[in-house]
Amino acid sequence: MSVRTRFAPSPTGFLHIGGLRTALFCWLYARRHGGQFILRIEDTDLERSTPEAIRQILDGMEWAGLDADEGPFRQTERFARYREVIELLLAQGKAYRCYCTKEELDRLRAEQMARGEKPRYDGRWRDRVDSRPGVQPVVRFKNPLHGEVVVEDAVHGRVVFQNSELDDLIISRSDGTPTYNFCVVVDDMDMRITHVIRGDDHLNNTPRQQNLLEALGCKPPIYAHLPMILGADGAKLSKRHGAVSVLQYRDEGYLPEALLNYLVRLGWSHGDQEFFTIDDMVRSFDISDVNKSASAFNPEKLAWLNQQHLMRAPPERLAEPLRWQLERLGVVGADEAKLLRIIMVQRERCKTLVEMAAQSLFFFSAPTSYDEKQVRKHVSTAVVDILRDLAGALERLGEWAAPALHSLISGAADRSGLSLGKVAQPVRLALCGGTVSPPIDATLAILGREESVDRLRRAVNEWALMIPPLP
Ligand code: GLU
Repeated sequence: MSVRTRFAPSPTGFLHIGGLRTALFCWLYARRHGGQFILRIEDTDLERSTPEAIRQILDGMEWAGLDADEGPFRQTERFARYREVIELLLAQGKAYRCYCTKEELDRLRAEQMARGEKPRYDGRWRDRVDSRPGVQPVVRFKNPLHGEVVVEDAVHGRVVFQNSELDDLIISRSDGTPTYNFCVVVDDMDMRITHVIRGDDHLNNTPRQQNLLEALGCKPPIYAHLPMILGADGAKLSKRHGAVSVLQYRDEGYLPEALLNYLVRLGWSHGDQEFFTIDDMVRSFDISDVNKSASAFNPEKLAWLNQQHLMRAPPERLAEPLRWQLERLGVVGADEAKLLRIIMVQRERCKTLVEMAAQSLFFFSAPTSYDEKQVRKHVSTAVVDILRDLAGALERLGEWAAPALHSLISGAADRSGLSLGKVAQPVRLALCGGTVSPPIDATLAILGREESVDRLRRAVNEWALMIPPLP
C-alpha cells in the first residue's frame, strides 16, 4: 500500500515553524517512500479561521517547496460528507442523540467535582430512545465502556489509554456542525491516510480517533507524534523565540532549504550530520530516527545553516531570492549575470540574503555621500593624487578583470611606498561610500570600468575640496 501522509493545519493563526516542521516530516516521509502528501485545511472553527491565515499557510508551503500531491482540501467543503457519516453512525447505533441542556451538564459537572471526581459526561442519554421537545440535541459517539485503547506510536512507542477514562465524544453540535476530532477521523479515513504525523499535543486525541475509526470499520493509520519545539529557555515556543510566520524567515533573508534543514534536525538525527540538502533529507529521513524529547529552537544555528546553504548552493539558485530582496530595497531590473557575480563575491560574507542585498546596494547606485570619519582616516593629499592617477590608469587598463585590477592597485601602492590597504581603503570609500565591500579587485571587476572610473573621479573631486581641513 502506498504511503499517504497529510498536513492538516487549522487556519487560526499563521504557519509557524512548529507547523512547518510537522509539514516537512509528513512531506519527507511521503517523498521518501514514493507516496502522496496531502494538504488539508482544518477550517471548521468558523470563528477562529480566517482567509488571511489560509493564504499565509498556502504561501508558506509554496515558499518552502512542500508541494502537495492532493489538496488543499478544506473541511468546510465537506460538511455534507460529515453529516452522512453521522447519520450512518446513528443508524448503526454507534452514536446517539443527547438532549442534555447546558444547565443539566453544569449541574453534573459541579456534582462530580464536589465528589472529587474528574468531570465527564456520564452517558445518561446513551441508551435512551426518546427525545426532549424544544431542545436541539448533540450527537455523541458511543465510546466503548471497557478495555484499553493501545496506540502504537511510531515515536513514543506503545501508549495505553483506558476506555473508562474517555467519555462519549460529541461528534455533532446542537447546531448540526461536526466537531474537530470527528472531522479528522472522517478525513483520514476518506483520504486513505496511512501515516498520521503531527505534534504530540494531539496524542491525547488519538485514542478517541482510533475508537471512531474502528467503529467506522476502518483500520487506524500509523501514528507518529512529534516532540514539541521549545524556546532556547525551555519554555513553549512563542513569538519571542521566533515562533513567527514562516514567511517572516523569507523576508529576513533565509533560504527555505536552510530553514527546512534546521527544522529537520529538531527532533530527528542522522548520525551527526548537520548539513542536508532537500535531496539528502528525502534520502535519509525516517520516522524511526525521530526522538521523543522536545528540542529547543536555536536562532544562531539557523543563521549558521543559512550561511552554509548560501555558500554551497549553485549561484543560480540564489539569483531570484537576492533579486527579490534587492527589489524590496528599491533596486529594479538587476541584470542576471551581474547578480551571479555579486553572489560569488558576497556569499561567504553574509549570513542572510537581507544582509547580502544591503551590502550590495552600491553595485547598483553610486554613493551619494562618504563616511566622513573614514574619509578623515584614509584620505590625504597624497592619497587624492594616487587615486587621481589610478583613475587614469584604470581607464587605460587592457583587460578589465580581477587579477589585472589587483596588480594595478598593488603597483600603485608600491610606487608610492604605501601598503595595499592604504590605497585599497580609499578606493573602496570612493566606490561604495564606506569601508565594507568584497575584495577591491572583485568589486571593481563587477562595477565595470566606466562606473568605477566615474566614482573614483567624483570622490577625488569632492575630497580635493576638503583637503585643507584634512590631516
Ligand atoms: N488541525 C490540527 C492542528 O492544526 C492538526 C490535526 C491533526 O494533525 O490531526 O493542530
